[in-house]
Amino acid sequence: TRKYLVAGNWKMNGSLKANAELLSSIAAKTGEVAGVELLVCPTAVHLESVGKLLPAGVVLGAQNLSEQTKAGAFTGEILGSMLTELGVRYVLVGHSERRSLYGESDLRVAEKFKAAQAQNLVPVLCVGETLEERESDQTEGVLTRQLNAVIELCGIDSFANAVIAYEPVWAIGTGKTASPEQAQQAHAFIRGLLSKRNATIAGSIRLLYGGSVKPDNANELFACADIDGGLIGGASLKAADFLGIALAA
Ligand code: 13P
Repeated sequence: TRKYLVAGNWKMNGSLKANAELLSSIAAKTGEVAGVELLVCPTAVHLESVGKLLPAGVVLGAQNLSEQTKAGAFTGEILGSMLTELGVRYVLVGHSERRSLYGESDLRVAEKFKAAQAQNLVPVLCVGETLEERESDQTEGVLTRQLNAVIELCGIDSFANAVIAYEPVWAIGTGKTASPEQAQQAHAFIRGLLSKRNATIAGSIRLLYGGSVKPDNANELFACADIDGGLIGGASLKAADFLGIALAA
């Protein structure tokens, strides 16, 4: 059985003070969600301070890393080993905001996935279609393309130590969540695609749903057979909402 993972992607939010307050509110309640793995992903500059304040039972994740595997002249970039050194365990790769706003290609995302694993970081590979792609029936084609880029570069076995987050772009920050049926269908498709290559890995990998998850819709999403948790944006900035979502897992 797959352990539920509820991950907070704080995006470009937070401050030393706000983070400390959020973490202490989370710490007061983690006992209620003991069966769920909780992950917080602050900005890179906050990783060290958040790492020091991390409540028991909560693990640390980064939002991005360099595709490079050795230190060097790459201004503004962050090497995987620098994250590991700070106690980071997971790293998001290929978030739709990275893909669309910062031009990350499928290949670049795959390189980042590989660089993460080279440092024993668990990549959380984000995939998902835009509204235009969904409306023109390209959802499965987009998911296939995004997943195959990683399978080709890293091999199917690499998914034994990874998480996938399905985040339909049209549901991110819009308040429009995918229906449980839409989400389950995409998750089943992703698991099926992996299963054709390796059924064991497909059966054990955790697939998170992301996109306007809130405490009041988390229950029906997490009840779906192939949904193993959530990647939470806005609602992860409020302890009550983040924990309310975790409680639904
Ligand atoms: P929201 O939960 O704010 O829609 O963001 C989802 C997301 O992008 C998490 O990575």
